[in-house]
Amino acid sequence: MSEKGKLKRFWLQELTRPAFEEWLENEPAPVVIIGTGSVEQHGPHLPLGTDSLAVRALIEDVARRTNSVCFHPCWPGYSPHHMGFPGTVTFSESTLMGVLMDTIDSLAVHGVKRFLLVNAHGGNRNIMALVVQLAKRYSGVMVAAPTGPSGTELAKKIRYRMGKYWDVHSGPTETAYALLHFPELVEMERLEGWEPTLEIDEKLREFLNPDRPDYELVRQVYAACTQPNTDDFTSSGVYGLNDPREADVEEARKRHEERVQFLVDFINLWKKIPLPPAFKD
Ligand SMILES: [Zn+2]
Repeated sequence: MSEKGKLKRFWLQELTRPAFEEWLENEPAPVVIIGTGSVEQHGPHLPLGTDSLAVRALIEDVARRTNSVCFHPCWPGYSPHHMGFPGTVTFSESTLMGVLMDTIDSLAVHGVKRFLLVNAHGGNRNIMALVVQLAKRYSGVMVAAPTGPSGTELAKKIRYRMGKYWDVHSGPTETAYALLHFPELVEMERLEGWEPTLEIDEKLREFLNPDRPDYELVRQVYAACTQPNTDDFTSSGVYGLNDPREADVEEARKRHEERVQFLVDFINLWKKIPLPPAFKD
């Protein structure tokens, strides 16, 4: 690739028009990475924008290593389940879908054919999957939302902990990412005297045990019984029975590196596949 196609900056909003045009003309298979997160309560100690801040850190690293453009079109995501806590801003499902579809459509008009969606908020997951399906159908572009790697020792260790303690939201796993990427916004002192606030039926609590032989079955029964709003089952806003102060920043650093490398490998492999006929102009 000629020097002209090499980006010096990676955020779409920071590029000049000529810099964007040169990249588009000279990069053999340009990829735009779109990040989604949320603005929602994250317990007493993490910033409201935790998921969006985290996805920005992730996609910027991936963009830098793959000469891709990254974009974070909106701070909020789909978070109606957190509205019981002040500070949460939720888009409706149609608004979030619209933001993503309009973003893809706009850049598709200018000739981008490969879009990578990266999500850091569970509430957005189904909407994002639908956007992948619809944008491929209606915008004439390739859209992917890869997740992984799930088979590494570290991935398994984290998954086990998340299963055992329901360490899903604002617990040690998420706190570690925040301490890694934006420590200046974390207020650990607000956890002083913190005790688990998860209100969960004793019978269901038994289901949170990945060592059970019937774990695949019971975790789905557990999910079926999970109440819809966060304030239905936790007064502190933290899901999880383990203490956020157990956050392991080194572990988060290693996991971040694994995830960045996985997405870099995905993009590099994707670029080797010629544009399938249906996506040609
Ligand atoms: Zn979060």
